[in-house]
Amino acid sequence: MKSSNKKIESYFTKPGVGIGNVGLSKEDIKTSFLEKLFYSLGRIPVVATQNDFYISLALTIRDRVFRKYVKSLEQYAEEDARGVAYLSAEYLPGPHLGNNLLNLEIMEEIREALAELSLDLDELLNEEVEPGLGNGGLGRLASCYMDSLATLGIPSIAYGIRYEFGIFKQEIQNGWQVESTDKWLHNGNPWEVIRPEISFIVNFGGHTKHRRDDDNKLHIEWFPDSEIKGIAYDTPILGYQSTAIILRLWKAEATESFDFAAYNLGDYYRAVEKKMRSENITKVLYPNDENLSGKELRLKQQYFFVCCSLQDIIRLQLLQGRKLETLHEKFTIQLNDTHPSIAVAELMRLLLDEHHLEWEEAWKVTKNTFAYTNHTLLPEALEKWPVSLLRNLLPRHLEIIYEINSRFISEIREHDFTGEQISRMSLVDDRGEPTIRMAHLATVGSYKVNGVSALHSGLLQEQVLQDFAQLWPEKFTNVTNGVTHRRFLALSNPRLAALISEKIGKDWLTHLDKLKGLESFADEEDFRRKWMEVKLHNKKNLANHIKELTGITINPEMLIDVQVKRIHEYKRQHLKVLHILSLYLRIKKDKDTNIPPTAFVFGGKAAPGYFMAKRIIKLITAVGDLINNDPEVNEILKVVFLPNFSVKLAQLVYPGADLSEQISMAGKEASGTGNMKFALNGALTVGTLDGANVEIREEVGEENFFLFGLTTKEVENKKAEGYHPYKIYSENEKLKRVLDFLMSDELTNGDPELFRPVYDNLLNQDPYLLLEDYQSYVDQMENVYKVWQDPGKWARMSILNVANMGRFSSDRSIRDYCEKIWKVEAVKMQSE
Ligand SMILES: *Cc1c(COP(=O)(O)O)cnc(C)c1O
Repeated sequence: MKSSNKKIESYFTKPGVGIGNVGLSKEDIKTSFLEKLFYSLGRIPVVATQNDFYISLALTIRDRVFRKYVKSLEQYAEEDARGVAYLSAEYLPGPHLGNNLLNLEIMEEIREALAELSLDLDELLNEEVEPGLGNGGLGRLASCYMDSLATLGIPSIAYGIRYEFGIFKQEIQNGWQVESTDKWLHNGNPWEVIRPEISFIVNFGGHTKHRRDDDNKLHIEWFPDSEIKGIAYDTPILGYQSTAIILRLWKAEATESFDFAAYNLGDYYRAVEKKMRSENITKVLYPNDENLSGKELRLKQQYFFVCCSLQDIIRLQLLQGRKLETLHEKFTIQLNDTHPSIAVAELMRLLLDEHHLEWEEAWKVTKNTFAYTNHTLLPEALEKWPVSLLRNLLPRHLEIIYEINSRFISEIREHDFTGEQISRMSLVDDRGEPTIRMAHLATVGSYKVNGVSALHSGLLQEQVLQDFAQLWPEKFTNVTNGVTHRRFLALSNPRLAALISEKIGKDWLTHLDKLKGLESFADEEDFRRKWMEVKLHNKKNLANHIKELTGITINPEMLIDVQVKRIHEYKRQHLKVLHILSLYLRIKKDKDTNIPPTAFVFGGKAAPGYFMAKRIIKLITAVGDLINNDPEVNEILKVVFLPNFSVKLAQLVYPGADLSEQISMAGKEASGTGNMKFALNGALTVGTLDGANVEIREEVGEENFFLFGLTTKEVENKKAEGYHPYKIYSENEKLKRVLDFLMSDELTNGDPELFRPVYDNLLNQDPYLLLEDYQSYVDQMENVYKVWQDPGKWARMSILNVANMGRFSSDRSIRDYCEKIWKVEAVKMQSE
């Protein structure tokens, strides 16, 4: 945007000149901090709470972040750069404060400035409540990508939903998961800025009217029956030594004219009630793994944020004096999974009905604007919306989807597709209740489709979207996920970061490949010792938190064996439990004490409606109660369930882990990113050939990875030939002993029904092949213990893991997106 105010503009154009005091020296920070406390909060130190101090510090830092953002905007404008809009229904940013201090490189200055005011930085960092606006891996990925977009200087903006209540808070009561609402906005949110003027109307319901004009041209008008307003809340996300970008989240509000009729009739309370109901759209994040297919509010959320975001993108395009016919030249829009895929129909609607482009033109723009990332092969997670629901809520969009479909079907009829293939590819699934296949809409409406690991992208093209891959092979590609090593190594594991920098310098912060330089020190005795000292320090830190959170004491010298991630049968937390029980029985029944002391740490939320997952949590805590309270066992084994796994907790857990459990059934985990965060912090992995495990193993070397289990192909074959878990159960004496223990009074406290659902499921169906993989897992764990008892070897493997994790930086992922998909280039930031 061109500013018309030359005076103000001149303040920005001189490099190195800012407005006001946004300096980074200790004195500057101290002054700003006290100004915020006095003049933004109206507080004096004697009455100020820790939250007041935290807010003052956050506002102080936000000013500095906004300064970077303003500079970034200038640069985008100057270079007239092509940009990315990232659409995601979920973000899991984690606490902002620490990351911003890291990226501004002022952590120590701030620590000292606060100390001079008798304040403790760590305590203030701990005050921050993280925005839990995502379920797990997918939301965290979006946030890692924002970090890298900002660091690499990619012109970009991220759009999402400002849920008032994020992912539920998990407590463990009597061994069971209990959910409560996440009131993350309760103490205020100093990182966001409301933009009341950036707001858009979103319509729902009603009907359409078709009319032909004198030239027989068809005009379609949508007469919705309700409307709602979306208001932008902006949070700046700062990159490392670089630009800042905006996370723009939409909040739903009733419009002024929210039910005039009722109001005029004097029915004030009915009007207010309607207003409140309409504002429900952004109230709460849906936990995943539930069947959302019929959930009207979920579809409303998706359409609401997509509609606001696309109107905003169009606003930006027009503001720069550009035509919508060239939207795809200026913007590319990335769809993070199918959650925003209604965008394909919505952009068509905006271009056709609001901006009067012809269909061909609008379609050309649309299918050259979107790119779609698929995140799952699980059939139950591939979104489908009932036609009846769409007809009620978005009648115009349903018409557009039908039209896209009919043109698409005509197109593919000209190729050699069988009738069966054509009905498989159709956007409409009319076997049973008619539904719209959102993944197909996203695929047809995008110029590129990617999976999130080499294995997953391959399976996508061979299975879920195979017909589309046959039709448009060049449309399909892979971008393996990555994680930001700045948050997950530099920030959360400062001691390891310092040790690495001492050896190879600090270049790894922007070029993770540089970690390769650590390889040459892997055989150095002294370096190994320091490496393991850092790990031990982190383990003590983790042990202290475990004590605080659960009351359970673990000896930090133990092997800390961790599985933290959402609880899901395909992730096989219960396979880990079977292994733990096998060790327990060896100690109890066989008096075998040759097992190295191990603490098993679990964490993760179960979707509130997912019966089996909640039962698995109860199983873990029951096994924990049994083992932790048995003096014959608890010197050797401990079992911990960490409640409320979050980014904050993740940053504590990954650095303190010795062993990373990545044990999903092959072919089910699209990529995983937890696997990367563990390995980056020097944990060794025991895992299957699933998701990105495959690529991690390739990078770190097969001799530095504990592999077990069937491959994806072998899983398919096993299922095809007929899988009989009961046969495995009856033929493996030790496994039988473990499984039968699930039904024992010792574990169930005399309630035979407690774990029967798990037991019956494993013996009869075992859809995720736990019994099939059991022996290979237990055997590989013996190998883990052998290596653990050789500390030099373990240290060497740990160093070599970290040294070879360069590829799994989200910087690399974003560079891949830029090159393979977006064709977007970084802006050059002037250094100050
Ligand atoms: C990384 C991360 C995940 C994803 O873990 P996976 O092991 O890849 O499933 C989930 N939640 C949080 C808080 C994370 O940081």
